[in-house]
Amino acid sequence: MRRRRDDEEPEKTPLVKEIPPKARDLSEWYQAVCYKAQLVSLAPVRGCVVLRPYGFALWERLQATLDGRFKATGHENAYFPLLIPERLLSREAEHVEGFAPEVAWVTQGGGETLTERLAIRPTSEVVIGTMYAEWLQSYRDLPILINQWANVVRWEKRTRPFLRTLEFLWQEGHTAHATEREAADEVQQMLGIYADVAEDVVAVPVYAGEKSQSERFAGATHTFSIEALMPDGRALQAATSHELGQNFARAYNITFSAEDQTLQHAWTTSWGMSWRMIGAMIMVHGDDRGLRIPPRMAPYEAVIVPISGTDGADVANAARTLLATLRDAGIRAKLDDRMALRPGAKFADWDIRGVPLRIEIGAKDLRDGVVTFVRRDREKGEEGAKTVCPSDDVPARIPELMDDIQRSLYKQARTFLIEHTIATQDRAEFYRLCRERAGMIEIAWCERPECEAHVKVETSATTRVLRVRHGGDTVCTACGEPAVGRAYFAQSY
Ligand SMILES: [Zn+2]
Repeated sequence: MRRRRDDEEPEKTPLVKEIPPKARDLSEWYQAVCYKAQLVSLAPVRGCVVLRPYGFALWERLQATLDGRFKATGHENAYFPLLIPERLLSREAEHVEGFAPEVAWVTQGGGETLTERLAIRPTSEVVIGTMYAEWLQSYRDLPILINQWANVVRWEKRTRPFLRTLEFLWQEGHTAHATEREAADEVQQMLGIYADVAEDVVAVPVYAGEKSQSERFAGATHTFSIEALMPDGRALQAATSHELGQNFARAYNITFSAEDQTLQHAWTTSWGMSWRMIGAMIMVHGDDRGLRIPPRMAPYEAVIVPISGTDGADVANAARTLLATLRDAGIRAKLDDRMALRPGAKFADWDIRGVPLRIEIGAKDLRDGVVTFVRRDREKGEEGAKTVCPSDDVPARIPELMDDIQRSLYKQARTFLIEHTIATQDRAEFYRLCRERAGMIEIAWCERPECEAHVKVETSATTRVLRVRHGGDTVCTACGEPAVGRAYFAQSY
């Protein structure tokens, strides 16, 4: 057998001594932070990462907030198999063509060659659609609103923790509806939830909108996404929501008898957000010291660091009492009582891990009846970075402080997005801005695939999302043909 790159030894997780400056090389900084903050390790299999406990805790925060919103909008969770028989996968032609290059196949099982290859799911429209065909009888069974929390495999060549890995965690929602209108409303509702979670919880501002024809999900009639802007001027697609029309319903016989007794095909949708959102959070908010986690995403909102001198026992007791008080108040708090580490080393450690608030208690603080607050969102020495709080006020002060840190991180990211969203009507300038990765470049656009392909060849940039459509009299900034709307272009991850 021909030896492939895939058979090569996987890389070992590099040992990170120092986090390099973020502005020097974003990619190098990003990987260093992921490893140093102990979010992930490279796995013993090429292209995969191990999600370590702190990384998994971030995923659990994202999962909980999404899951709550899905359930509040009437969705239920279910689970479907990892393996998909080849004959099922090949039924929706455009879908299988779109995914074919990324699919991993199981060809052997129990020591025998299988009579039919099994695909490891790259996404689950096929297997879920097959079950909907079996379950759905009447219009009374509609809508079907199901979400699955799962892992999927897409055979990627390059690995970047959270952003691109061979196996990744996500949720995929799959719904079936009686009418096109209902399916379209569902897709917009879920896009709205994604945008809300990105902005309100992860503090990452996004542009939400429809994708161009060439950026559409394989087999969809309309694809919508949320797009965030990374510090290097590249866009990152953070979630997608698809109208599948009746394409999958026709391929997989998802039919129902309507009120007028006619047999009709259902209108289906799918939508997903993956752990990529965590990658966006790291890149957007992190700094030269490491992660800065928005409080609503933080596994720990506050870490208590006792600074023990000769009165070590009293300080340690006070720290333990404070931990209990905070936990009783519903605050996610952690006590760093590691004896072997000096306070300075602990500070650096929690800075790397991005905990929004550090609470220091020393012997003098104890005598004065106060603690010291240190905010992770402010620079060292910046006004308000370090404040003193009376011990009794701590549980009451933390929630307002968390809101303030959440807002301040969002505001910084929002300012960056706005400053790097550039509208232009000049063709030469447009191509230059795309090449220079200046950010989200907004132009009047013709929506022709040929035009988008030309821009991509010339600059590596693609449309991220379409903005308003209009029947105006403008011309496309990129090619000079009549424009039908406006669009954001950017290079992307
Ligand atoms: Zn054009």
